[in-house]
Amino acid sequence: MLRITNLGKSYGSARVLSGIDLDVQPHDVVAIIGPSGSGKSTLLKCINFLERYDEGEVRFGEELVGYVEANGQRRLATERQTNRLRAEMGMVFQNFNLFPHMTTLQNVIEGPIQVKGVARDEAVRHAEQLLAKVGLADKRDVRPTKLSGGQQQRAAIARALAMRPRLMLFDEPTSALDPELVGEVLTTMRELAAEGMTMVIVTHEMSFARDVASRVVFMEGGRIVEEGPPGKIFTNPDNARTRAFLARVL
Ligand code: ATP
Ligand code: MG
Repeated sequence: MLRITNLGKSYGSARVLSGIDLDVQPHDVVAIIGPSGSGKSTLLKCINFLERYDEGEVRFGEELVGYVEANGQRRLATERQTNRLRAEMGMVFQNFNLFPHMTTLQNVIEGPIQVKGVARDEAVRHAEQLLAKVGLADKRDVRPTKLSGGQQQRAAIARALAMRPRLMLFDEPTSALDPELVGEVLTTMRELAAEGMTMVIVTHEMSFARDVASRVVFMEGGRIVEEGPPGKIFTNPDNARTRAFLARVL
């Protein structure tokens, strides 16, 4: 479903991603772990082209993300082409990014109506299902400022799901939350995984990664150092740097 091949990216002279190869199959739950500055967020943003990559490729389904190829040449895709692919990848950030002037329901129906041209009553019906699913049925008419951090993050997940994405990308979705609110968001993500949603999750929640991920990817210095099933990575990693990182965080 997602195939990343030899991906590289620099900011000016600073190389932040090198030689990244990653395959994500339908229903995979891939947890990306690694120290601060290792390129985890940048990798996630290259997947949906919020950041431009300069080497290698990201393919979503059969399609190249961010570029079009013609006669062996590559040029930047139009915003419209990139947005069409982006609409199928839900993204949830650390800081919720809900529209503050809209109610929870309005936040959830906005994308389907504006981007996908879904009829309003159909969008509302789907949004109500999604809000019920994330435990926010009673919050449909309140604004994000009236929600707790955990509720805001669950609303952000509902908003992403409203676009009926084929892939969900999460960048440390719980790291801005008070500790007592982390569990409710992880529960929502766990349910999504159990339903078979394909997910790529940058996380510091090692026990969540161990329980929910089908694969764990350890990054350092802009490279994938090691990847494997959580049972292997967390108990018996091959690489000394993976071991050193886990010794610090576990
Ligand atoms: P964290 O765990 O702290 O979120 P991360 O693994 O997500 O870290 P990135 O945010 O991807 O790391 O950053 C990777 C590297 O790229 C860092 O060295 C960072 O300073 C650099 N970087 C990120 N964004 C930019 C930018 N817009 N311009 C220049 N350098 C950047
Ligand atoms: Mg980050």
